[in-house]
Amino acid sequence: EKRFVYADNAATTPVTPAVLEAMTPWLMENYGNPSSIYSIGRTARTAVEKARRQVAAALNAEPGEIYFTSCGTEADNWALKGSMRRWAAKGKKHLITAVFEHHAILHSARALEKEGFEVTYLPVTPEGLVDPAELEKAIREDTALVSIMLANNEIGTVQPIAELAAIAHAHGAWFHTDAVQAVGHIPVDIKALGVDMLSLSGHKFHAPKGVGALYAKKGILPDIFMDGGAQEKGRRAGTENLASIVGLGEAITVATASLEENMARITAMRDRLIDSLLRLPKTRLNGSREHRLPGNLNISFEGIEGESLLLRLDMAGICASSGSACTSGSLDPSHVLMAIGLKHEVAHGSLRLSLSELTTEEDIDYIIAQVPPIVEGLRAMSPVWEKIKDL
Ligand code: PLP
Repeated sequence: EKRFVYADNAATTPVTPAVLEAMTPWLMENYGNPSSIYSIGRTARTAVEKARRQVAAALNAEPGEIYFTSCGTEADNWALKGSMRRWAAKGKKHLITAVFEHHAILHSARALEKEGFEVTYLPVTPEGLVDPAELEKAIREDTALVSIMLANNEIGTVQPIAELAAIAHAHGAWFHTDAVQAVGHIPVDIKALGVDMLSLSGHKFHAPKGVGALYAKKGILPDIFMDGGAQEKGRRAGTENLASIVGLGEAITVATASLEENMARITAMRDRLIDSLLRLPKTRLNGSREHRLPGNLNISFEGIEGESLLLRLDMAGICASSGSACTSGSLDPSHVLMAIGLKHEVAHGSLRLSLSELTTEEDIDYIIAQVPPIVEGLRAMSPVWEKIKDL
C-alpha cells in the first residue's frame, strides 16, 4: 500500500506541535517589538532572552555569545566575511576552508577572493573527512580563519573538529564550524570542540525556516554584518524574528533533551537501510560509515540517473534527494561526491536519504520494499547498465 515517507530531513524538517505551540502566542497576543519599552515590548524581550539562554545551554555557551540570524547561510556569511574583514586591517588575509563545504561557505569564500583575500580549499579523503595533516600543511602565519563544517550535508560525515581547531589556534587563527547539519542531531559542545564560532539553522531540527544563530566566543568579534539598529548588541541589526526565535529555543531544548535516545534509534534504522540497499549489485555507500550522522545515508547506484530515481520515488510517495537541496535543479554532479573521488556517472546515480526521530520502522520497511525494484527497472532501461553490469 502506498505511503507518504519523508526522508529528506537534511533539506528541512517539519515544525513539531510543541514548537508551534511555543511560538503561537508571540505572533498574535504578545506581538510587541522587543526594543519597545512598554510592557508587551518588555515581554517580547524576555522571550528573546529566554531563547538565547536555551540555545546557549544546548551548546554549552554563554547567552551573550549567541547572535540570532535569519538563517544558517547568514551565519556562515557573517562568520567568514566578518572575520576576514576584521583581520585584514592587521595584515592577515588568508582563509582556509574545504572543497566539500556547503555553498554558503564556498560562495562566501569566492566573494572574499574577489575582494583580494586568499583562500586555500583543503581536499577531503575518499571517506569524506578532512585530514588534520592537510590543515597543518596549508596553515600560514597570515591565516586569519579556518572554517570546516562539523557534518557534511550530503554524505553526513562528521569531521575531527577538536583536532582541527587546535591546529588553527596553535597558529593564531580563529576557527569557525558550520554545524547546521549537526545541531539537534549529535552532541555539539563548543568547549569540547574548541571552536570560536559556530553556525546553526532552526529548520534542520523542527524550528521554522528563516531563523538561525551564530555562536561567537567572548572576545571574538567578527565585523558588523548588518548595519542599522541596536539589536543583537548592535552587531546584527533588524527587528528580531520573535516567534521564530522562540521556536528555535524550544526546538533546540527538545532536541537536546532526547538526543541520546533518538541517536540510538535513528542509527539502527539507518544501518538497516544501508545494509538492505547495499545488497543491490554495483552499489556503494558514500562517506565514512563510522564517522557519520545517525540519520544520513548516501548511496550510489551505478547505471542510473539520480533524477529519474527521485521522480520514481516521488511517485511512490517517498521524498528524497540526489544531492543537496541547493544543487538539485542543476545538472552538475555534486561537488561533494566529486571531492571524494567519484566518477561523474557514478555521482549522478546517487541517492541521499535523511531520517529523523519522526521516521518509523514502517517507513524504513517501505523504502526497502520500494527502492530495489525502482533501481532494477531503471537499470533495465539503461544503455549504460547494459555495458557495465558484467564488468
Ligand atoms: N550549511 C549547511 C551544512 C547546510 O546543510 C545548510 C542548509 O542546507 C546551510 C548551511 C544553509 O542553512 P539555511 O538553509 O538556514 O540558510
